[in-house]
Amino acid sequence: MRFANLDGRAVLLQADRALDIATASDGRFPADPSLVFDRWDDLRAWADTVDVAGHEAAQPFDPQRLAAPSPRPRQVIGVGLNYADHAAESGLALPEKPVVFTKFASSIAGPDVEVSLPGDTVDWEAELVVVIGRGGRDIPEAEALDRIAGFTVGQDLSERTVQWEGEPAQFSMGKSFASFAPTGPAVVTLDEFADPAALAVTATIVGEDGQESRVQDGNTDQLVFGVADLVARLSATLDLLPGDLIFTGTPPGVGAGMKPPRFLRAGETLTTEIEGIGTITQRFVR
Ligand code: ZN
Repeated sequence: MRFANLDGRAVLLQADRALDIATASDGRFPADPSLVFDRWDDLRAWADTVDVAGHEAAQPFDPQRLAAPSPRPRQVIGVGLNYADHAAESGLALPEKPVVFTKFASSIAGPDVEVSLPGDTVDWEAELVVVIGRGGRDIPEAEALDRIAGFTVGQDLSERTVQWEGEPAQFSMGKSFASFAPTGPAVVTLDEFADPAALAVTATIVGEDGQESRVQDGNTDQLVFGVADLVARLSATLDLLPGDLIFTGTPPGVGAGMKPPRFLRAGETLTTEIEGIGTITQRFVR
């Protein structure tokens, strides 16, 4: 199942069609995408009975009208240094427990947005994002995958100067400027992937001159703490709530790790792709 937010309404996607969930279910499910995660298991059972692309109410749609699939998460959790090669390029030791911070929820944006650069050291971090379904507290690792709604694509945009300001550092501030948490284009349930634990993750920058550079090329099979492990560990402290997001960390290839360091500039476009989910794109302006 591919779930998305089209113009503020919850939809299912299949091929080039979108099916409005509230309309097709005769109001059994809410139109507001942020309320659907509370009913995720019911939604999946209903969706199994529906031919999305063949439904009489299914419509062709403009992908540019897709918004954040979970537009108002109550908690947005970031995990740092969760790929060994990225920890190495950051000059930091591999953590023994997940390094956790927040991206404040007002930084959430849709899959295709313009982002104002608040400084000269804004960096990219392509990430697999876990969207919580039923959630809960003290979730055993063996049950963790049943408590999530699915996966989406995210960028953990980071203003490095702000992030590393002060002692201790200010991760959450450096990562929470407007539209610094773009997500989408859809939440994809785990049954849609041949192997949900091995998904290719890439990030590509296109300059104003049209020159393209592939800056990140990783795979989620390299995660230090895998998805089920993260859900279990986080839920030992937090009550994971429907619609919450977990940014699972970035593979190597961020700008701060380059020699010399290289950051995002006005006029550049950043595209992040995850195998089986799709792409998100940000255009940067001053
Ligand atoms: Zn990150």
